[in-house]
Amino acid sequence: MRFSDILGHKREINLLKRGIERNRCAGTYLFSGLEGIGKRLVAVAFASALNCESYSGDSCGECTPCLQIADRAHPNLLVAEPDDGGTLKIDLIRELKRLLNYTTDRGRRVVIIDGAHLMVRATSSILLKTLEEPPPNTTIILISSKPHTLLPTILSRCQRINFSPLKEEAIKEILRREGFTEPETVKMACRLSCGSAKKALTVARKDIIKKRLDYASILHMDGVTDSELLDMAERLSREEHLDELLEGFKTLLRDVVLLRTGQPEKKLVNTDMLDTINRCAYSTEELFTAYSLVEKTRESILPPNTANKRLAVEALLVSLKERRWQGSVV
Ligand SMILES: [Zn+2]
Repeated sequence: MRFSDILGHKREINLLKRGIERNRCAGTYLFSGLEGIGKRLVAVAFASALNCESYSGDSCGECTPCLQIADRAHPNLLVAEPDDGGTLKIDLIRELKRLLNYTTDRGRRVVIIDGAHLMVRATSSILLKTLEEPPPNTTIILISSKPHTLLPTILSRCQRINFSPLKEEAIKEILRREGFTEPETVKMACRLSCGSAKKALTVARKDIIKKRLDYASILHMDGVTDSELLDMAERLSREEHLDELLEGFKTLLRDVVLLRTGQPEKKLVNTDMLDTINRCAYSTEELFTAYSLVEKTRESILPPNTANKRLAVEALLVSLKERRWQGSVV
């Protein structure tokens, strides 16, 4: 992985390059920004650049360290990532600390801790001791889409690089490389992605574009019967990508506000749902509250939180139908 292989993030990469060229890399970085925009790719390209045998503004991609880093087989690259349950296990961080006791004689060691916000407090405390006394010739990179949830003592020890969402052109190119060329799919995946390549690919691969149309009645729950509501909650809670669908609801609610405040249609995300958006019965105040409820529900089902999906979705839909705006998140 070379810096030049990465789409977007020119500003962020230039900051890292300047550090290499001045021989002033930080001991600890925090790469923050939306999930699925390439923070980890940049971290690996950085590791490659720091260990390349013929670095010249970028790693060569061909020397032994570059090839080993590409294969995740170089001893100077250590990566900790969340397990399938979405937590960063304490044993993993302990093992990293043990490996850091060994010195490195060539290049610079890079430790990537992906999903740093998924550490429980006890794990964070163990890591904190390492950050307080970082081993020599080592750079630790914490990656997080929720940096505000990290301990202030960790934040204060990191040089933070905030990654911007990807531009539409970059998302289009990533979709094209993965074989998505149908214009309507590309257009809607870009709009729903909010600048995240991961999200754009999920939307395109999992048919989120069509699925979200099935749940459009979230904008006019008044007309939904109780049994329809329970049926919808059941179906929705079983969706593999419930979090993406809830994100989609947020964009719908936002679109209603934009349209009511006189914004042009081209600024909307859900341009294929104009009729639904126009028929929305919520007041503007209710829209903001609904947006916040949908987000709270989404947060409650994502790791490390473990709310019961069925109950959380049911409570959300009941609140929207009855315009009962409090206490809906299980
Ligand atoms: Zn190289």
